[in-house]
Amino acid sequence: MDGIGNVLGRHPGPGPKLLCGSHIETQNESGWLDGALGVCAALALARAGLPVDAVAFADEEGHYGSFIGSRSFIGLLDEAEIDRLANRYHGKPLRDALAEAGLAGRPRLHVDAARYRGFLEMHIEQGTTLERGGLHAGIVTGIVGVSQYRITIEGQQDHAGGTTMAERRDAGLAAVRLLAWIDAEFPRHCAERTVWTAGRITLSPGAASIIPGRAEALFQVRDTSAEVLARMRDVLHRAVQESNRRERCTAVLDVVSESTPAPCDPMWQDALAAAAESVVPGRWARLPSGAGHDAQYLTRVMPSAMLFVPSIGGISHHWTEDTAEEDLRVGMRVLAEGAARFLQTTAVGVP
Ligand SMILES: [Zn+2]
Repeated sequence: MDGIGNVLGRHPGPGPKLLCGSHIETQNESGWLDGALGVCAALALARAGLPVDAVAFADEEGHYGSFIGSRSFIGLLDEAEIDRLANRYHGKPLRDALAEAGLAGRPRLHVDAARYRGFLEMHIEQGTTLERGGLHAGIVTGIVGVSQYRITIEGQQDHAGGTTMAERRDAGLAAVRLLAWIDAEFPRHCAERTVWTAGRITLSPGAASIIPGRAEALFQVRDTSAEVLARMRDVLHRAVQESNRRERCTAVLDVVSESTPAPCDPMWQDALAAAAESVVPGRWARLPSGAGHDAQYLTRVMPSAMLFVPSIGGISHHWTEDTAEEDLRVGMRVLAEGAARFLQTTAVGVP
C-alpha cells in the first residue's frame, strides 16, 4: 500500500504483465460490487495463473478528491493538491486521514508502463442496457467525456399584470424556447449514444407575479467521441445565436468544464469480444460507459479495456446493488479468456 492508499499486488514471475483492478472503497451506504468486483476479479485472474498485477485504487468515488488514486498512479496528482483536499462529508483533511491510516510520509507508487501490456477493469454496468437486452457481458468502447455549459438569458424583470405581452422581455420564455430548439436540433447532429441534460433551470427572481428578468440553465452533454462533443458545442453556439436573432432577450453561452473522452483500446475490445462470443454467443454487446472509472486515467498510459456485467434493475450506489451469480460467473470466464487472448495477440504482434 502506498502513500495515497493505492494497493498493488505484484506477480512474481518473469515476462510482461497485465495490470488489472478497480477500487475497493464505495459511496456511503452503497453496494458490494461497485469497484470491489474488479479487484476480486484481478485476484482471481492472478490465482488462475495469468501474469496479472492486481491493483486497488484509492478514493475512486471522490470522498476526498477526484480519482486521486488512479491520478496519483499515473503522475497527475501533486503534493499541493493533497494538501488542499478534505473529506466532502465531514471536512477531515486528506493529510490527517492518511496519517491516521499510517500512510503519512510513505512514497507513492508510480506506474511502470514498460512492465505492462495493458490495463483491464471489470465492473458492474450500473445501467440497464445489458439487462434490457437479455445480455450477459458488455465490452466498453470508451468512457464518455462530459461537457458542462451555462446558458444565461437576460431579459427585463417587470410586473406580471401591468406589462403588456407586446412590451415584455421574458427571460423565462426565451430559455424554454432555446432549450426546445436544442432538443429539436441535437438529434440531427448527435451520435448513437450521445446524451444531453438541462439539469438545472432557474428563473430570477422566481415569483408568480414577476416576469423573469434572468434565466440560467446548466446544460451537460456526454459522448465517447471528442469530435461529437465539439460538434454538439457548435450546435449550442448556433442555438444561442438563433435565440439572440429571434428574442428580445440576450443569451450567452459559457463553458463550465469539458472533460476528455477515454476510448478503450480496439485490440483489447476485440480480444474481449472474441472471448464473449465463445462464452455467451450472441448475448453480449459493445457499449459506452456513461459513468467515470479508473480506466479513464489508465487509458493515458497503456492500452486499457473494461468489461461490464449486468446490474439487476440497473441499481447501483445503493445497498441493494446486485448482479446474478450466473452473470458474475460468465463475466469472470469472459474476462479470463479475453485477458489470455489479448496476451497472445500482443505477444505475436498481430496488428
Ligand atoms: Zn466504480
